[in-house]
Amino acid sequence: MAVPLMQAVRVGRYVVKQHLTGRKRYPLVLMLEPLFRCNLACAGCGKIDYPAQILNQRMSLQECLDADAECGAPVIAVAGGEPLLHKEMPQIIQGLIARKKYVYLCTNGLLLEKKLDDYEPSPFFSWDVHLDGDQIMHDASVCQDGVFDKAVSAIKAAKARGFRVSINCTLFDGADPKRVAAFFDEVMALGVDGIMTAPGYAYERAPDQAHFLNRQKTKQLFRDIFRYGKGKKWRFTQSPLFLNFLAGNETYHCTPWGKPLRTVFGWQRPCYLLGEGYAKSFQELMDDTAWEQYGTGAYEKCADCMVHSGYESTAVMDAVKRPWHIAKVALFGPETEKPMAPEISLANQRPAEYTYSAQVESQMAAIASRKPARSPRVRVHSGKDTTSGETRIETADAAD
Ligand code: SF4
Repeated sequence: MAVPLMQAVRVGRYVVKQHLTGRKRYPLVLMLEPLFRCNLACAGCGKIDYPAQILNQRMSLQECLDADAECGAPVIAVAGGEPLLHKEMPQIIQGLIARKKYVYLCTNGLLLEKKLDDYEPSPFFSWDVHLDGDQIMHDASVCQDGVFDKAVSAIKAAKARGFRVSINCTLFDGADPKRVAAFFDEVMALGVDGIMTAPGYAYERAPDQAHFLNRQKTKQLFRDIFRYGKGKKWRFTQSPLFLNFLAGNETYHCTPWGKPLRTVFGWQRPCYLLGEGYAKSFQELMDDTAWEQYGTGAYEKCADCMVHSGYESTAVMDAVKRPWHIAKVALFGPETEKPMAPEISLANQRPAEYTYSAQVESQMAAIASRKPARSPRVRVHSGKDTTSGETRIETADAAD
């Protein structure tokens, strides 16, 4: 089982309790990004295109624990940036586990073997290693050779020490379903506990804008992959109904509050993928976000989104309403032959708004008002700038 039985029971109990108490909007997974800085510069990433002063910001241990206390979700995914660059990460993970939260620590794997001693295996803890396909696919996706081999070596080391390990596989336009299926076979043979997969979201700040999937291509790609998977024992960490949605069999609207994101900026509106503003508290996020203005059919930037951070909570909530439906999909797998479910009309969506520059300006002003400027040390980034092809020079403070 990709998710331990006790975890499934506790999360299921939490979901049912929310429904019984009539709570209209509730979080399922807290997405925690205590830093944006990364040691890679992937072409499809929309998270690291900030000035160095912002990349050098960190959420403290206390801020991370406070975010958990405010939100109250049973599962926490710690992402970034690269979380293993954060000095207090072992304490953050310990603190969340002590509260009996199920924690997934997302990493590109480059520092994983070196840092394994700082962590203990626990039924509440899993590594979530980024692997976008086989060696050639993944190294192309992260724009650096050798990353796949390092990540796989780290996965083996973590499994040998008794850790739970899942992989996080984002797929882009041009992915070959047969090759992805072979990759899923390969990671299952490695002994990973589960696969988390999704199409890449078309981040407006990602250097490579040419390889994001539209909805029709996404659904066809996943149908083709799942057809190759018939009869195989691939273990996914996601709800079977979310996989059924990816294969074009559900007309779901997104549930952006299901996976709220807390970053160094605050609580991101409206979701993990879109940063159109920030709330000071979780309650403010829930109460004061104009949720109806977002989602496929409502907003241009949402038109092609089929990402788990928006739709997995919808699938989980659907499972509570239609338990027989999830049982059928869990038993037989997603439908791959029948006509697809109707698509949501985009006729009335509002046009995209572009808020990035204003947000960067306001965050830079906030940083400047918080502490006096100090001389940064200069470091040459190991990768190339993915847009210009030039070696990138960045500043980094002592917290790295
Ligand atoms: S569809 Fe929902 S989850 Fe996707 S970007 Fe829009 S608001 Fe976010």
